[in-house]
Amino acid sequence: MVPTKRVGVIGFPVEHSLSPIMHNAAFKALGMDDWQYDAMSIPPDILRLGLREPRDHGYIGINVTVPHKEAIMEYVRPDEKARAIGAVNTVDFRSNIGTNTDADGFINDLRAHDVSIAGERVLVLGAGGAARAAVYGLAGAGAEVAIVNRTPSRAEALVRHLHASAGIDGLRLMTLDEAAGWGMTLIVNCTSVGLHPQVDQSPWSQNLPFPAGRTVYDMVYRPATTALMRQCLAHDGRAIGGLGMLARQGAISFELWTGVAPPIDLMQRVLQDALESAHKD
Ligand code: NAP
Repeated sequence: MVPTKRVGVIGFPVEHSLSPIMHNAAFKALGMDDWQYDAMSIPPDILRLGLREPRDHGYIGINVTVPHKEAIMEYVRPDEKARAIGAVNTVDFRSNIGTNTDADGFINDLRAHDVSIAGERVLVLGAGGAARAAVYGLAGAGAEVAIVNRTPSRAEALVRHLHASAGIDGLRLMTLDEAAGWGMTLIVNCTSVGLHPQVDQSPWSQNLPFPAGRTVYDMVYRPATTALMRQCLAHDGRAIGGLGMLARQGAISFELWTGVAPPIDLMQRVLQDALESAHKD
């Protein structure tokens, strides 16, 4: 069947994106043969055109990835989540509304793993886009959040942004040394430290004792078990990688465009298989 319902992702570069594999596998599993998900490489200087082209050609919606997530806000109607996080990763062309599914994808994955959030002390490492989504999601779910970042001014900017855009107060800024004694139950890595090929690097300094019995959620999903996760496991903790978040943020986009709940386990499995086969090359 010729696909008549099209969605996709724009980014630059976009060839590495795992979203087409994940979404097309879900369409196939559900017998949605008239749907197709495409990757479209759009250089930043033609972003406006790169957004108009798929819309004019009948695409139902698109995901937006690096480096367009912030610049795209000018051309769509950002909803409350996108405005709060300061980035759009999903657009529905039928309404021209742009939303952000990262925070819900992250929180949904914590819940799928039965990780307690409300009333818990949670340490967020990092202050980039992923950290903004994580802090927004965690604060909304009732966690007490502290942030540690290599560049403190960027963490301060994050706190100011979430106060202004979402009225979030009570976020703490710490050094890693201070955080080590803070008594958090959950540590969330939102830095890119540990990402392939720097697989032996951890955002938790080797010189600082790792607190025992904590849960680590590492947004990095390549490798499946990061150096930070290994530190946590070596200290009687529990470690969860970021692949479930990737599948769940995609699942929210999928349901928004199609009105159909996707097979999340299958999406996560195809992501896992794709990453494993990439490492064999
Ligand atoms: P970003 O905006 O570029 O932020 C990067 C963060 O990492 C900053 O806080 C930066 O600190 C910190 N960092 C980078 N190198 C560092 C180093 N050597 N030492 C200490 N800190 C360092 O990136 P992002 O979009 O937030 O993404 C962060 C990570 O999350 C990436 O690995 C991305 O793949 C992952 N992610 C995963 C998912 C998922 O679905 N699992 C979703 C989104 C993102 P400074 O401010 O000091 O530079």
